[in-house]
Amino acid sequence: MQDKILIVEDEPEIADLIETYLKNEDFTVFKFNSAKAALEYINTNQPDLAILDIMLPDMSGFTLCQKIRENHTYPIIMLTAKDEETDKITGLTLGADDYMTKPFRPLELIARVKSQLRRYKKYNLIHSEGEDKNIIIYLDLIMNIKKHECLLNDIPLTLTPTEFLILQILLENKGNVISAEEMFHKIWQDEYYSKSNNTITVHIRHLREKLNDTLDNPKYIKTIWGVGYKIEGE
Ligand code: CA
Repeated sequence: MQDKILIVEDEPEIADLIETYLKNEDFTVFKFNSAKAALEYINTNQPDLAILDIMLPDMSGFTLCQKIRENHTYPIIMLTAKDEETDKITGLTLGADDYMTKPFRPLELIARVKSQLRRYKKYNLIHSEGEDKNIIIYLDLIMNIKKHECLLNDIPLTLTPTEFLILQILLENKGNVISAEEMFHKIWQDEYYSKSNNTITVHIRHLREKLNDTLDNPKYIKTIWGVGYKIEGE
């Protein structure tokens, strides 16, 4: 996935510590010790999340946060020097999404980074297109048809194009049974289909594995023996 994380922190030990933990989790890190340097980076680059210290040498982290918010919506986590209730409120008012009080446990920060990224991606998936028909929400699933993205419990699912289509067809025909043959023709149009063709069965099996669905008690894709497959209507 390699999300890009911006760190703006003038204390090298803290910046390095955060960087190490983030890199361990496969994040790409861009580290700056001043607001000016960070702003130059932001002008031409788009991180996925920013971690901002409040006490910076050239500018307050609050001001930096505000400047970022003028043009960007990615999550911002502020680092406050002490547990000042006012700092926390100011940060959140100016557009920060979360804050951490120093000293903090790096793992706690990583957990917050991940949670903010998940929330942000989910939000983007739902709101980016503006057209409701591109979004299908069913139980813990969110599909963005146009972007070909699918989230299960806020976590992106890696689906092949065929698996994606099968899931889309079943969801668009919620409550109705689709036979394997019908599914085959919907996906490959007039290509040859024989009764012995188990292509759809194989794709459905893979799809179920990815959805953590069991054959006995599936949450999503049900098999109607001798007829086909269906997703229950809500
Ligand atoms: Ca500082």
